[in-house]
Amino acid sequence: MFRIGLLVAALLFTSPALARKETVSDRWLRAHEQFLAGDELAGRGSATRDEAIAAAYVATQFQAFGLEPAPGHNSYRQTAPIIRRRAMGTPTLSADGVTLAGLTVLSAVGGGAGGPVTVVASTAAPPTKAEVVVFTGPTEQALRGMRAFRAAGAKLVILAESAETRKLATQLGGRLLLPIRLETSPAAPQFAVATLPAAAVAALRPGVVVEVFVPFTEERTVTTNAIGYLPGTNRSLSLLLLTAHLDHLGVQPDGTVMHGANDDAAGTSALLELARVLAAGSRLRRGILFVAYGSEEIGGLGSRWFAAHPPVPLARIAANLEFEMVGAQDPKFPRGALMMTGSERSTMFGILKKHGALVESDPYPEQRFFERSDNYSLAQTGVVAHTLAGWSVPPTYHQPTDTIAALDFDYMVRAISSLVGPIRSVANSNDAPRWKPDGRPHE
Ligand SMILES: [Zn+2]
Repeated sequence: MFRIGLLVAALLFTSPALARKETVSDRWLRAHEQFLAGDELAGRGSATRDEAIAAAYVATQFQAFGLEPAPGHNSYRQTAPIIRRRAMGTPTLSADGVTLAGLTVLSAVGGGAGGPVTVVASTAAPPTKAEVVVFTGPTEQALRGMRAFRAAGAKLVILAESAETRKLATQLGGRLLLPIRLETSPAAPQFAVATLPAAAVAALRPGVVVEVFVPFTEERTVTTNAIGYLPGTNRSLSLLLLTAHLDHLGVQPDGTVMHGANDDAAGTSALLELARVLAAGSRLRRGILFVAYGSEEIGGLGSRWFAAHPPVPLARIAANLEFEMVGAQDPKFPRGALMMTGSERSTMFGILKKHGALVESDPYPEQRFFERSDNYSLAQTGVVAHTLAGWSVPPTYHQPTDTIAALDFDYMVRAISSLVGPIRSVANSNDAPRWKPDGRPHE
């Protein structure tokens, strides 16, 4: 009897108390980082086998933490079909039918384009309509003027070869990178940027008909989202969506591995820790979807697919928080703080702050970070969606130095720990975060 009494007491009191003690742990964060940002995954290139392995890892962690597959899904993974174009053969360029020597194509969609030449000397006076722009001003000015050339309908921009254009070509590793898209999206219209020797550029007078041809082949592949679901106790309440992105820049053409320990293995590790801690705690009223997206780095393809194929109608998603680069802190902020993009747009920022989250407003609105991560794919559909980041552009941003050695784990633990209580509060509240007037972005 005595023994049984003790056992009953242990079951009644010890287990739930232990469960509630789960906290964000430096050990778990380091372990996730070792796998995701380790040499073996080679930088988790978008829509590659390495990205698929990262997704499999996150999916099995979700399963181990006791999450369920998303409603209506029978696995923890969602794949999206991708079309990848690869350059093959040698691009050619002709003027009035004569092939010119010394061509370098810096970027292109693939295929052919051409038309009569418009000569532009300065981006201060961009053309209103031009199919082929021959730019004779400074290279740096031309690179900043591409948007204006596109707006004028240009399909081809030709620059004189210079030290700067050769440097750009080297940075591309001598390989021409063609676009990657969701199979369901239309192929982008042709837009090519090419260089020729200065003498050849000088000979391209207005009205000369120039044609470029960039041979390519298309292959089908997939990108993978890992999705876990923590059901709530009240199924009539809308869900919370917590997200990060699995992929990074992979292996560069020159063989350099871009580990992306901060961008965004850190966000993915934070997502996994939140999943583990929230799943181990007391039941929440709202359900939570945890999603690690594929192919963010090539245009938010995983999140766009998720938004187009959500496991529950988007109207049943109350709010989204994306974790981006949470492994290093902007020295501008108080210790432990995360910055929230678009904080003025909704009531989310105030709610999190009120419950003790270490969050600050984005001090760089001119950089438009709100529109530059996966949260935007959801925000465009009307879901209240923000990104939390430690430092929007740290010194390691998209550099080979973005490795585990550069991470600040003490900061990560503080910042992510501060969100556990506030997320629980939102998940237990009847009131969902709302857009403020004019806060919702226009599609
Ligand atoms: Zn990122």
